[in-house]
Amino acid sequence: MGIAIQGLSHVYMAGTPFEKIALSRVNMEVEEGAFAAVLGATGSGKSTLIQHIAGLLHPTEGTVRVFEAESGPETKKLGSLRRQVGVVFQYPEYQLFEETVAKDIAYGPRNQGLEEGEIEERVRQAMEWVGLPAELRERSPFHLSGGQMRRTAIAGVLAMKPKVLVLDEPTAGLDPAGQQELLNRIDDVHREQGMTVILVSHRMEEAVRYADTLFIMDQGRLVLSGPPSEVFSRREALSEWGLEAPAATQLAAVLSKHLEPGVPSDLLTVEA
Ligand code: ADP
Repeated sequence: MGIAIQGLSHVYMAGTPFEKIALSRVNMEVEEGAFAAVLGATGSGKSTLIQHIAGLLHPTEGTVRVFEAESGPETKKLGSLRRQVGVVFQYPEYQLFEETVAKDIAYGPRNQGLEEGEIEERVRQAMEWVGLPAELRERSPFHLSGGQMRRTAIAGVLAMKPKVLVLDEPTAGLDPAGQQELLNRIDDVHREQGMTVILVSHRMEEAVRYADTLFIMDQGRLVLSGPPSEVFSRREALSEWGLEAPAATQLAAVLSKHLEPGVPSDLLTVEA
């Protein structure tokens, strides 16, 4: 198993009047080498969930295991989790800072303590993966187009060759052709390297096109998971997933919130 999450809860600002339960007893398993998509409305807990996978938050309750690294409420250091997971946050280009594209991409591999030759090779390969022409190496990242800046930032994460790549709305703000090209390239790296990918998206169509497993979040709970065909069509699976009538109705509402043209709506008629 690549990722195994058990009984994960997260409470922000616990014990204050602003206390917020962002995740509630989430159980989730992602196979090594899978392409998973996490879907859900704003505030449903997607970002909190991926921060746990990336070792950026301590669980209030429950455990998160990513390959051999694990975190739980008692875990002090999350470094072993962080080393396995590369995260591309929303609008990652805002985090570019080096003088040249090559230096920016090299930053992560250099921190990993790799030798110069290996760093060079990682930079070359990562630029190729994201489709950045080699002649941009010595350019300032701040003189690139928006799409090229996004690719530079993603190349910097890929160059570390993480076992798990987490992408939070990576196509936000790109035009439709740019969106598709970026995800096609990420899909190629995923296949070529056997890299486990977790894509956070609010675009059902995008998720269905690339992901082999969908995870649907609603109000801090994981309400449904499975291959896209199952999520859309296996109504009988509702009882298998332990959903009762009210939950099924809610589920239909959750799914319809994400419904985009192209997904036949009759697949979403959920009756308990
Ligand atoms: P999503 O990524 O699906 O939009 P989040 O994980 O960001 O959801 O948020 C889940 C819930 O936790 C929301 O109600 C949000 O307002 C709340 N939340 C997120 N981050 C914080 C924080 N740092 N402090 C307090 N509440 C937070």
